[in-house]
Amino acid sequence: MQTEFDVAIIGAGPVGGALACALARQERRVLLVDQAALPPMAHPDFDGRGYAIAAGSRSLLVEAGLWDALPYPPCPILKIDVTDGEPGRPASPLRLHFSSQAVDAQAFGWIIEARALRIALNAQIHGAPGITLRAPAQARLTRTEDGARVEIGDEVFTAALVVAADGRNSRTRAQAGIPVTNIKYRQSAVVCALAHEEPHQGVALEHFLPGGPFAQLPMSGTAEHPNLSAIVFTDRTEVVDRLAALEDARFLPEVKKRLGPHLGAVALAGRRWTYPLSAMFAARYFDTRLALVGDAAHGVHPIAGQGLNLGLRDAQALLSLLAGAPDCGDAALLAAYQAARRPANMAMLLATDALDRLFSTSNPVLRLARDLGLAAVERMPGLKRRFMLTAMGE
Ligand SMILES: Cc1cc2nc3c(=O)[nH]c(=O)nc-3n(C[C@H](O)[C@H](O)[C@H](O)COP(=O)(O)OP(=O)(O)OC[C@H]3O[C@@H](n4cnc5c(N)ncnc54)[C@H](O)[C@@H]3O)c2cc1C
Repeated sequence: MQTEFDVAIIGAGPVGGALACALARQERRVLLVDQAALPPMAHPDFDGRGYAIAAGSRSLLVEAGLWDALPYPPCPILKIDVTDGEPGRPASPLRLHFSSQAVDAQAFGWIIEARALRIALNAQIHGAPGITLRAPAQARLTRTEDGARVEIGDEVFTAALVVAADGRNSRTRAQAGIPVTNIKYRQSAVVCALAHEEPHQGVALEHFLPGGPFAQLPMSGTAEHPNLSAIVFTDRTEVVDRLAALEDARFLPEVKKRLGPHLGAVALAGRRWTYPLSAMFAARYFDTRLALVGDAAHGVHPIAGQGLNLGLRDAQALLSLLAGAPDCGDAALLAAYQAARRPANMAMLLATDALDRLFSTSNPVLRLARDLGLAAVERMPGLKRRFMLTAMGE
C-alpha cells in the first residue's frame, strides 16, 4: 500500500524539523525522515551550546509553534560591542557599539539553547497530526516529473516534493548529482558556556583577534549558574587542537585572555566542543521534485552566527511559496525558491568570508585600516543602522 504526502523531508534537524512543523500547521501532509533516533521528551543535560537567532528568522520558529514551546527561556541580545585586539591585551579603543534601541527593536536577536530547540522540536514532530515520522530510518528515493517515491524498509510512500534537509554532507543532494564547492578555513571553533560573576546585561561581544573572532553571547541563567554566556571562538586549527588537549583549569585562562575582565571571575559550565570550520555552497538549490534547504544547500563561517538563520529563512521562503500551491513540486515554484534564497545566501557567504579574512590577520596595515573603519562606521548613524538591520535579518 502506498501513502501519499505533499512533502517528504529528509533530515529532522532544526531546519527540516521546523519546516515540517510549519507545513503541518498549513494542513500539509508531511513525511519526516531522520537517520537518528529522536526521542520525544528527553531533557538532556545542559551542554553549553547555543544558537543566535536573528529577529528576522524567529518568525519561522513562531509560525512552527516552536518558539513558545522552548523549555528554557531565550535570552535577548540588547547590545553588541565589536572590538579589535590581541589576546591578553586591552581591546583597541576604536570600537563599534550597536544598541537595539537605536533601531526601535525589542532585541537584535536571541540566544537559545540548542537543547531547548531540540526538546521543543522532538515533542512537536512526534505529536503533530500532519506529520508522519520515521526515525531512525534511511529512505530510498526515486524522483520523476510526476512525483517522488520514498521507500523505507517495506513501506512505500509518494510525495509531490522531497526536501533535502540532511545537513552539510547531504546524501540526498549527492544522489541528485548537485555539485558543491567547499572552502576550507584552516581554522577551528571552540564552543562552550561560561558561568561568570558579573551579569552580562544582554550585551554580546564580538572581539576580533588575529587567529579569528571571539564571541561572547548572553544566555539566560539557570538556578545553578545565574550569569551565563555562550562562547564561540575561532583560532588556527593547530592552536585549537592544542587548547582542546588542555584540562579545564589550564584552558580557562586562555578564554579569559581573549574575553577580558568585564565579567569578573569565570568558570566553565558544561563541556567544550570543537569544530573544524569550512564554508560550502551548492551549485543549485533544486532538481526534479527536490529542494535543498539549510546546511544541505550552504554552510557559512560562524563569524556572524548566521548558519541556522539562513536555513530558517530558506524554510520560510519555501513555506510562503508552498502556501496554497496546487502542486508542491512544480518546477516553476522550485525555480522561484532558488531565486529567492541563493543570491541572499551567497551574499552572506561572501560577507562572512571577507570579514574573516579582513579581521583574522596581524598585518599592521590591515589592522590600522579596519580600526579606522570601525571608528568611521561608529560615527555614521545611517550606515550603522543599515548594519544593524542586516544582522537582524530585516
Ligand atoms: C561552531 C559553530 C557555531 C554555530 N553557531 C551558530 C549560531 O550561533 N547561529 C546560527 O544560526 N548557526 C550557527 N551555526 C550553524 C548551525 O549549527 C547550522 O547551520 C544548523 O545546524 C543547520 O541545520 P540543518 O537542520 O540544516 O542541518 P543539521 O543540523 O546538520 O541537521 C541535519 C539532520 O539530518 C539528519 N540526516 C543526515 N543525513 C541523513 C540521511 N541520510 N537520512 C536521514 N537523515 C539524515 C541528521 O541526523 C540531522 O538530524 C554554528 C555552526 C558551528 C559549526
